[in-house]
Amino acid sequence: ERGRLLFAGPVDFLKGVVAMSGLPPADRIEVCFAGRSNVGKSSLINALTGRKAIARASNTPGRTQEINFFALGESHYLVDLPGYGYANAPLDKVAAWQALLKKYLSGRQSLRRAFVLIDTRHGIKSVDEEIMSLLDSSAVTFQCVLTKADKVKDKDREAVLEQVRAKLAKHPAAYPEIIMTSSEKGDGIATLRAVIATLE
Ligand code: GDP
Repeated sequence: ERGRLLFAGPVDFLKGVVAMSGLPPADRIEVCFAGRSNVGKSSLINALTGRKAIARASNTPGRTQEINFFALGESHYLVDLPGYGYANAPLDKVAAWQALLKKYLSGRQSLRRAFVLIDTRHGIKSVDEEIMSLLDSSAVTFQCVLTKADKVKDKDREAVLEQVRAKLAKHPAAYPEIIMTSSEKGDGIATLRAVIATLE
């Protein structure tokens, strides 16, 4: 119910940030979304907010890697981190974005939780573990959100959950509850909204 209320309000794109100096004041409850490119992050943010295209897929490796801020009502920021794990991203871009990400994660007082998106078909890969380790060292609690669950048969989902649980057990900053979602079918969206609404 709280989740429904929070997400019933206005959602507005605030700004894309490329340097720490561009961050909005840390005066709202903030959650961020991280995941490999193509994991379904834009689709998930669009499903959460009920907008068709508030978050746009940023699948061009050369594109400026911005941290996108969305204002949710007057109390929250949803933060869309650039997708990682591009096969042929230029190394200097990767290094610049990692440096910004590190500063953002370790210095953002208002950041309550990071959602690390994992494709249900693929499970946790080594690039995902790198982000998880960065979250561990930044002491940012993170929670796994499995995406595109509709692409995996019911009977095959438990094996994915097992793999994810085993990997999460090694990360001190991991929140144990895993949320399985489908932006296409709407599965798990209300659960994720409720989790966000519960953070204080
Ligand atoms: P991003 O790069 O992480 O922002 O990924 P997108 O949201 O652009 O999604 C990548 C591709 O996966 C697109 O073709 C989406 O239509 C598809 N996709 C995303 N979420 C789902 C889902 O829940 N179910 C299915 N079947 N496809 C999805």
